[in-house]
Amino acid sequence: MVQAVEIQRTVTKKEKPSEQKLGFGVYYTDHMFILDYSVESGWHSPRIVPYQPITLDPAAKVFHYGQTVFEGLKAYRTEDGRVLLFRPQKNIQRLNKSNERLSIPYLDEEIFIDALQKLIDVDRDWIPSTPGTSLYIRPFIIATQPALGVAPSTQYKFMIIMSPVGAYYANGVNPVKIYVESHYVRAVAGGVGEAKTAGNYAAGLSAQEEAKAKGYEQVLWLDGVHRKYIEEVGSMNVFFKINGTVHTPALNGSILDGITRNSIIHQLKHWNIPVEERTISIEELYEAHEKGMLEEAFGTGTAAVISPIGELNWRGDKLVINNGQTGELSAKLYESLTGIQSGTLPDPFGWMM
Ligand code: PMP
Repeated sequence: MVQAVEIQRTVTKKEKPSEQKLGFGVYYTDHMFILDYSVESGWHSPRIVPYQPITLDPAAKVFHYGQTVFEGLKAYRTEDGRVLLFRPQKNIQRLNKSNERLSIPYLDEEIFIDALQKLIDVDRDWIPSTPGTSLYIRPFIIATQPALGVAPSTQYKFMIIMSPVGAYYANGVNPVKIYVESHYVRAVAGGVGEAKTAGNYAAGLSAQEEAKAKGYEQVLWLDGVHRKYIEEVGSMNVFFKINGTVHTPALNGSILDGITRNSIIHQLKHWNIPVEERTISIEELYEAHEKGMLEEAFGTGTAAVISPIGELNWRGDKLVINNGQTGELSAKLYESLTGIQSGTLPDPFGWMM
């Protein structure tokens, strides 16, 4: 059941940043949403308050044992002034899957959607309108019980903060160079790889930094058991067009079930382009390239939507894809998905809310 949300409006509205210089996750809107959980009362006291720091006991479990989950989605302002959300039900469904894995209580889907809509409405004037810009929304849950025993927390906070973000590609969609990671592992099946939880991102930082130092933008993660099956690229899902068919690693328990990934699969099927979810080894990819069959490679995620891969480096063996240029299909998918999201193209799938 949705409880009435108490709204406390700020008396000192912040100055809005220039839409040309937004970056990603740099500025935050005037308000935030908070909902508390206790074992006795369940999820309670929904409220929208001025954006502000929060006070937590230093023993709060989130600081020690990482019991926390998050989501990421975007709101877009259309040319005729409507506000669109891209598949928000998918985010609350995934949040609850992450909750289950991290022993965090289930959060009602209607409470999540209602909170999103009310907060966006209060901060409506923060949604940028320059093409390519959007309002990035970060819902998250933290374990707040002050207790050092290793056991699920009895108290939580669910919060939503929002950040106006700039166009990901200021100068058109650009391919990136990717380092195939052979030393570090992001996740293993049975672990928390398919949950959107902080530890996965902390665990990926050293690989990302080392790849950057070698001149690569991100890493291609391989599986943790055989060290040869492709999983994800940075914090994006990954696709390869090989000989006319699009392949993406099957969800195997260590890969995040990306909403962009799911949407791309739907879009490809709608266009009658063959798409397969399966196990793909790095050797197979190099062999396909050798035979001239590796046509395109790209990452998918909420932030960039499509991120073409121009070059891979696996143990020093460099492979250039499509002459390091953005492929035709990557560009077409980018145009189609961002068009649906921003309301400039029709939405044949009923994705927009
Ligand atoms: N994999 C990981 C590890 C991610 O963090 C993300 C971003 N949420 C994705 C894939 C892409 O997911 P989505 O398309 O839902 O943004």
